[in-house]
Order: sequence, then C-alpha cells, then structure tokens
Amino acid sequence: MPQGGTLSPLLALVALHGLETAARGYIRQRQYLQRELCVCVYADDFVILHKSLDVVLQCKAAVEAWLQEMSLELKPSKTRISHTLKPYKGNVGFDFLGFNIRQYPVSKHQSGCKSGQKLGFKTLIKPSKAKVALHTQKLRDTIDDYKTAPQAALISRLNPIIRGWCNYYSKICSKQTFFRCDYILFSQLRAWARYRTGQYNFKTLNKYWHRIGNRLTFSTKDGKCLAFHAETPISRYVKVQGNRSFFDGDVIYWSTRKGRHPELPSRVAGLLKRYKGQCPECGLRFTGNARIEVDHILPKQKGGTDRFDNLQPLHRHCHDVKTARDRVEKGAGDNSRTIEEPCAVNMCAVERIERTANSVGRSSGQLTPR
Ligand SMILES: [Zn+2]
Repeated sequence: MPQGGTLSPLLALVALHGLETAARGYIRQRQYLQRELCVCVYADDFVILHKSLDVVLQCKAAVEAWLQEMSLELKPSKTRISHTLKPYKGNVGFDFLGFNIRQYPVSKHQSGCKSGQKLGFKTLIKPSKAKVALHTQKLRDTIDDYKTAPQAALISRLNPIIRGWCNYYSKICSKQTFFRCDYILFSQLRAWARYRTGQYNFKTLNKYWHRIGNRLTFSTKDGKCLAFHAETPISRYVKVQGNRSFFDGDVIYWSTRKGRHPELPSRVAGLLKRYKGQCPECGLRFTGNARIEVDHILPKQKGGTDRFDNLQPLHRHCHDVKTARDRVEKGAGDNSRTIEEPCAVNMCAVERIERTANSVGRSSGQLTPR
C-alpha cells in the first residue's frame, strides 16, 4: 500500500489499534491520572496529552514497548515532547494533522475559564506554518504553470484549491491566516499580471482586477472571479457524542447533525438540521421514536409554497394542533373543509410502515409515496 493512498490511514489505524490501551495500561491503577490522559490517533500519527511530564514519558516508554512487539519503533526526528503554554526544550505547542495547537498567555479579560476560575491563557488552534507555506507554494506553482493561459482558466484552476484548503481549516481559528494568504496571493497575481503586460500600473490593474461589491477582485470582465480565502465562514466543530457511529441507526441525531441520512427523505433531514432537531411548535427535541411530519408554515390554501423556507418539521400531534389553528384563523364562517396538503405529510422512513397501518381511519393522514 503506497503511503498517502486512500486506504493507508485506515490500514494504519487497524494496525495500531490498541495503542491507546497500551498507553493507558501502565496507569490502570490510578484513575485520576487515567481521566486526564488524552490519546488521539490518526493513521500513523498520534498525540498523547497529559499535564504531568512524568506520565507523558512513561506513556512514551509503554508505547515504545508495545510497538517493539510488532517490530516497529518511534522515529526520533518526528517524536517530540512539548508544553502547550511554556517552552520546553525550545518547543512550544505542537503540530498535528496540519494544525498548530498552542496556548497563549492573555490578560484576565480574554482568558479561558475552568469552573469559574480564570486560567490566564487561551488555547488557539491554527493552521500550521508548514502547511500554510505548502499552500502558498502550490498557489505559486499553479500561477507559474498558467503564465500564458487566459485569466478565466487560471481562476478556474485556483478556485478549487483555495476552497478545498479553506474548508479543511474552516473549523478552527484561521481567519487571520486566511487574510494573510489573500495578501500573498495578491502579490503572486500582481507578478503574474506584470509578466503578461510588462508593467504593473493602473491599466494592468483595471484589466485584471474589477470592483465587485466594495472590494477589488481578481476577475474577468464577464464576472468570473477568484475566491477569497477570508470569505470562508468559520464554524466550530461540534464533537460527536460519546461512542456514536453513523451506522448506529440513530436517524434523528445524524440527520440533525449532517442534514442528510440514507434512511430519511432528504427534505426531512434538511429540515431537522435547520431546526436543530427541535419541533418549533412545542420546542421539544425529536427523540428516537418521534413521528416527524413536514408542515407548511403558511398553508398552501393561503398561498404557501413548497419552498424549503416555508416548511418546518413537527411532531405528529403538534402538526394536528397547528392545522387546527390554521383552520380557525381561516375564519369560523368559512365552511369549506380544510384538507391537509397531501405533500405536507412526510415522515421518518422507519415509522412509515407503522403509520400506514394507523392512518386508515384518519382523514388527514395522506402519505406521499417516495
Ligand atoms: Zn412538537
């Protein structure tokens, strides 16, 4: 299996399964040390975190002994011991999977808190310097390759590189790095423009840069523009609960988290994500055996549409309440029967069969075959 192949991280994880147990093995008796120990493994890369240096050193020895059984050993040049806040042997913080993890001393106003106590520092995770350099180098090489190509071709080539890289780092403190990358990219493109026109002046600027919104954007005349790093929104990563797995059958949890699930219609899953797994009528969260129905916020009879904005997920009983209220609002003198829109009812796939049996005597229980 070549290194860097698609399966290689998975195979490495399989081969190194048990590394955490080995690291924890020697402190089995001491529960309080166990709790504070954190082991993160990805492919052949791993980090052991603990506040005590002794524990880290002993874990290292335990891992070395465990690897020895498989005729493997730690590479000294890639193994280092560091402190996240204070320098230890010239190292502060550490890099893991392209992220730099480090704590910075800050004033009491910006300090992180633990149990109401000010810590005096703040943990920031940023893209590592090496990876930023690699990224800017890649941009530079691409621009060099497209020296004589049309501007539109260069933009089409650069955009996926920028978007892909920014998406990877969009869960951490990357905004400043993104701004810096934009600045570097501007310099690289200026050199590109100078090469093509022989000089860099306002004429060159007007040829390749246009004002879009209120900023100068590297774009073609017909509106094809280069993506900005700093436009990527930063959204924090929420850790997956406990031992959950995508295949554990918890349809509601995974739909709420990802906005899609193979066992649920994509519209329902999308709505669950949008409403954060809560029923807007009663404010309660949907649970494992909840019956979810899709409701039109503005009923179709009043001109409501099937657009995603006009839909909301409701409990079955909340949907009944909402439909009754819509009927009252429509006017007591109006004798026409309010019929629930056939496409309004849509539900969890696992519930559908059960529901079909129940809905025989129910006038509004029309199901949409999907
Ligand atoms: Zn409800």
